[in-house]
Amino acid sequence: MRQHIVAGNWKMNMSFEGADDLTNEIKEMLEEHTLPKETLLVVCPPFPYLELVSDYSSESYFAVGAQNVSDRDNGAFTGEVSAEMLESMELEYCIVGHSERRAYYGETNALVAAKVNQLIKHDISPIVCVGEVLEEREAGKQFEVVAQQLVEGLFHLSANDFRRVVIAYEPVWAIGTGKTATPEQAQEIHAHIRGLIAKQYGQEVADDTSILYGGSCKPSNAKELFDPDVDGGLIGGASLKAKDFIDIALSF
Ligand code: PEP
Repeated sequence: MRQHIVAGNWKMNMSFEGADDLTNEIKEMLEEHTLPKETLLVVCPPFPYLELVSDYSSESYFAVGAQNVSDRDNGAFTGEVSAEMLESMELEYCIVGHSERRAYYGETNALVAAKVNQLIKHDISPIVCVGEVLEEREAGKQFEVVAQQLVEGLFHLSANDFRRVVIAYEPVWAIGTGKTATPEQAQEIHAHIRGLIAKQYGQEVADDTSILYGGSCKPSNAKELFDPDVDGGLIGGASLKAKDFIDIALSF
């Protein structure tokens, strides 16, 4: 059966010292509170702090992920970080297709597909973000937007490779805005996503796929959001506070 996942996306925040303090706090809180066995915590810091956070993760029960990856193999691509490098650091997850990357760095569905391929090749689970912008929601196009993102970014994978994928539905109008989708809005679109996966790969694969919600998720609304097709959250702002992050994970 699918796993509950609460993944923290630190984005471009924190000094090295701040990252050290936050990870230490997460570790201490995990020593005090036992998460349910089926709930996995994933911490996604900026690239320069991956090793620091990974060192803590070897003592604690959480996984580490990157926030981005190159679509290319190693070589002359200044400033890029390859999936092979992430694999060599034993990272297990990597976010792909976040709306901020789509909006500010031109990450298209085709680029998402290429990055997903790199990650799969190097045994890293992609956390693939999909979601509509406000105008698309207002025009009632959220279902088709998300379907297109899935078809063009992911549905080229074999069923076996798709099993590695985690999906994060993040309505763009809810990210960092304090506006959260209602539990009904989240549930409706998660069920739609699971239905599309079932059509493409069969019900068993769909039932095993973790589909997270992201967008102003916090301890006060996590419990009502995580139900029944919503298998956890991709958490931005609230993941920068250890207590909020752990409280969200304890919401199941
Ligand atoms: C995100 O960036 O993926 C996100 C969900 O951010 P926030 O929780 O701050 O809305």
